[in-house]
Amino acid sequence: MHTLPLADIDALFLDAGNTLVGMDLALVCERLAAHGIAAEPADVERAEAGARPALSRLLARGRSSEDRDTFVFHIRNAIAALPSVAARGEGGDAADAELDRIAHAVAHELKDAGTRRLWSRVLPGVPEALAALHAAGVRLAVVSNSDGTIEAGMAAVGLRHYLDAVFDSRVVGYEKPDARIFTAALAQIGTKPGRTAHLGDLHAVDVVGARGAGVHGVLVDPFDDWRDDACPRTRSTAELARALLDTRGAAR
Ligand SMILES: [Mg+2]
Repeated sequence: MHTLPLADIDALFLDAGNTLVGMDLALVCERLAAHGIAAEPADVERAEAGARPALSRLLARGRSSEDRDTFVFHIRNAIAALPSVAARGEGGDAADAELDRIAHAVAHELKDAGTRRLWSRVLPGVPEALAALHAAGVRLAVVSNSDGTIEAGMAAVGLRHYLDAVFDSRVVGYEKPDARIFTAALAQIGTKPGRTAHLGDLHAVDVVGARGAGVHGVLVDPFDDWRDDACPRTRSTAELARALLDTRGAAR
């Protein structure tokens, strides 16, 4: 966290997926099992996080995070990294084609379950972190690439009342990393970019996008997968919240 000026931050923007809420791991395991792939929830959690840098590189080339093909790409990389799949080793073209087929099916089945169902797992410590930040007077807003459902999704998991506003790319009309979704959020929240941090899990979308609007970009990196990207990193929303609150407490 050494490059984030914690004492200057009085507003925190938050990505939703993999920052506040994660995929329903039981649902993912169920869909994988239906296609003959055995996986424990912890394995899925680890493999998905490890696949994020490759997803970020794809998004850096201009692909939308909301395209189904983008999700298929990400799910394929995550499946390939599962212990039960990686242990099979190089399987040649036939195995690659089979993995393509399974990834396509699983990704579409997960999307078809709906955003609210798929992204319904509140990450550990998030409610407590948002409650404490809100109580301390830190302005909070979700800035999410989504499909118009994120505000209702935040309400459904009990997080909406901690947030000053929710910005959904489908509603705002701009998708991260377009700086305009951040400038719209800054204007509505009424904070200065230099006093605002944005926390998210994809460098090309969250960190690059935030920086485009002059906002401090911070990466959620739970398993130390992003060593090559020069930006402030934290393991979780809860960890960043503790750092912010500790700094505010020490300043009083
Ligand atoms: Mg995300």
